[in-house]
Amino acid sequence: MFENLSDKIQRAFKNLTGKGKISEENIQEALKEIRLALLEADVNFKVVKKFVNEVKAEALGQEVQEGLDPGQHMVKVVHEKLIDILGGRTPEVKLKGTAPHVIMMVGLQGSGKTTSSGKLARMLTEEGYSPYLVPCDVYRPAAIQQLMTVAEQVNVPVFDSTENPKPMEIAKRSMKEARNAGRDVVIIDTAGRLHIDEALMDELKDLKAFLEPSEILFVADAMTGQDAVQSARAFHEALDITGVVLTKMDGDARGGAALSIKKVTERPIKFIGTGEKLDAFERFHPDRMASRILG
Ligand code: GDP
Repeated sequence: MFENLSDKIQRAFKNLTGKGKISEENIQEALKEIRLALLEADVNFKVVKKFVNEVKAEALGQEVQEGLDPGQHMVKVVHEKLIDILGGRTPEVKLKGTAPHVIMMVGLQGSGKTTSSGKLARMLTEEGYSPYLVPCDVYRPAAIQQLMTVAEQVNVPVFDSTENPKPMEIAKRSMKEARNAGRDVVIIDTAGRLHIDEALMDELKDLKAFLEPSEILFVADAMTGQDAVQSARAFHEALDITGVVLTKMDGDARGGAALSIKKVTERPIKFIGTGEKLDAFERFHPDRMASRILG
């Protein structure tokens, strides 16, 4: 039978009840289980090492009281540490300066950028904003078309980029349109490539300099594990991202990528994608993700 991490920790502590202080010997087995489970969940090994050491430091020397279950206590320590690493509170979207505020969506092709742009526009509409969608992937006409279709589905106006060959041109004109139409949040769906390249990063840097976005959200496919972590690092180094959208969390990814990306970028995960449908989008809750990793 499948045994989740909580069960494993509790099992490792089964015979410990009422034996005084927790010693290094006592927790060795539990730490091994935690280490393995996190590695299996695709957490970067350096992050795992640090995490396990912190849990160990916290648990060592703690009194195991008569009647209290040390296994449950340890699960609680791990749960709280996970929440702590994942960022504590549920993060807000920051819209600074005067409207229209800009949110730039960046990431590799296939990560779920276009879908997430539409989902975010839908969510913001529900929250009382009037978003405007802007397709900026001039290299893939299909991507522009895709966002236009998505925009129609979520009933949000979209800039027609089909006649504009240059991203900067699109940025300038779409901002003007958004202002004229009284839209207050402009969501820019930028170009993605299969691999990170300098030309792409330079284009994004130029757009950032012109648009002065309130948010640059890096869109990562949770199913790609360590690859998502590497690209998060590269996008963050080039653009100083403000947050992360973790997509495809409806798959069987255990959420290890969330821990690693958070650690590498030190930026909050703000949203998760939980399906192909345009309402399958949620604010990220660190406590829920911690529970998911614990199982
Ligand atoms: P882009 O190239 O980064 O713009 O990626 P797309 O938005 O085109 O998404 C790539 C594929 O992933 C599409 O088939 C989407 O339907 C799918 N997708 C995006 N987000 C999710 C998600 O949260 N869950 C699932 N299951 N599929 C998703």
